[in-house]
Amino acid sequence: MNTPVSASAPRWYRGNLHTHTFWSDGRAFPEEAISWYKERGYHFLGLSDHNIFQNDPDRWIDSTNRERYFGEYLKKFPEAVVRDAARPEAAPPAAGESPVPRQARLSTFAELAARFDEPERFLLVPTVEATRTVRYAGGRVHQVHMNYANLPALLPCLAAQDFDRTAQDIAIEDFVAAHIAETEALARSLGRHALFMLNHPIWFWYDISPRVVAALPQLRFFEVCNNGSPIPCAEALPADGFDTDRFWDVANAFRARRGMPLLYGVGADDTHVYRGEPHDGMLMPFNAWTLVRAASLDADSLIAAMERGDFAACEGLEPDDIAFDRASGTLSVSVAAKPGAARLVRFIVSKRDFSETPVRTIAIRPPSRADRPDQERTVEIYDDARIGAVAKTVQGAPGEALRASYTLAPDDLYVRARIEEPGSQPLCSAALHPRCHVAWTQPYARI
Ligand SMILES: [Zn+2]
Ligand SMILES: [Zn+2]
Repeated sequence: MNTPVSASAPRWYRGNLHTHTFWSDGRAFPEEAISWYKERGYHFLGLSDHNIFQNDPDRWIDSTNRERYFGEYLKKFPEAVVRDAARPEAAPPAAGESPVPRQARLSTFAELAARFDEPERFLLVPTVEATRTVRYAGGRVHQVHMNYANLPALLPCLAAQDFDRTAQDIAIEDFVAAHIAETEALARSLGRHALFMLNHPIWFWYDISPRVVAALPQLRFFEVCNNGSPIPCAEALPADGFDTDRFWDVANAFRARRGMPLLYGVGADDTHVYRGEPHDGMLMPFNAWTLVRAASLDADSLIAAMERGDFAACEGLEPDDIAFDRASGTLSVSVAAKPGAARLVRFIVSKRDFSETPVRTIAIRPPSRADRPDQERTVEIYDDARIGAVAKTVQGAPGEALRASYTLAPDDLYVRARIEEPGSQPLCSAALHPRCHVAWTQPYARI
């Protein structure tokens, strides 16, 4: 990553690559989701519906139990294609519901891109959330969710509707690796460049440990902030300081020691609801995003910048500048002034001599649900003085801009910066969401 210096320097673009709509379990029509993000000033957006790419021109949804959504949608987008639906005799209208249910046709990716894309202003990026399941002996079920972007098609495994595996069939790292391989093969066949990321890795329906990620050099991105991964893990996570930041540092300590590329962290909303229902403000838009410094607003430029690590994950706070000088190993960050707000920067490192033996292992047993019978999992806790340690803290003054830097020590494997606004109200209150506004830089190594 180089510091931009010329007048034609790359610029920052704000985006979210994890959003759901009525194409899967999101609660908005795609035009609504896109227009809200675009009106908010986002430059790029991925509608990452579960196991589907939005290319079927004959996909309809029914207004039954969605009267409110239909009403608001048709008011804002009166040109929407709607038809009457036959109501099954077994389903009489509920109170307040129209006696004649309607159906609305879902707009395709191509139609949506043609309608909303604008050069240098807004880009819809084709995105899919591969939503997969691994079943263990004894009934445990773990989901693995992975987004791939910039490929307007389904992976063969998703097109075949082959969603499940058993742990006897395949180890989790091999399962993820198979998806990366399919993504790369599909990208080659389409002549495109894809971005692949592991979503919400310590969501409790998962079995992704940092060690899994440390075995996958081809995995470059994960969600460091997923709008809280708010599924009811508050009782169980974070535990013993294990949270998404710790996950990241453990993964990167192992990866750096093995000479693997460092894992980069993405911010995303995982938007499912847009009007506050039913998650009390969680999984709403505009809570976590990715800020990318790219040459232009096109998918190849955005992905190339992200592969260079020239981006930040953001929750209510954006860096002004991030620069890493590989020769000296110096990471510099700055953040603009905000009236009354005092920011601080933590520079976080892992040390070359960290121990690969956990200091302890803890068992977590989140409350059971009928459809998730046994969620027990174990979390390995590593020495936090050698992995993910705060090497330097720089405190800014209220209302003033802040610039801070840190130079790698000989025994540091990498450094990353976490810019915080202490005392600020985070944009969502989920267990794994930060407790104040944060911007995360990527980790950088001297290599
Ligand atoms: Zn997911
Ligand atoms: Zn999702």
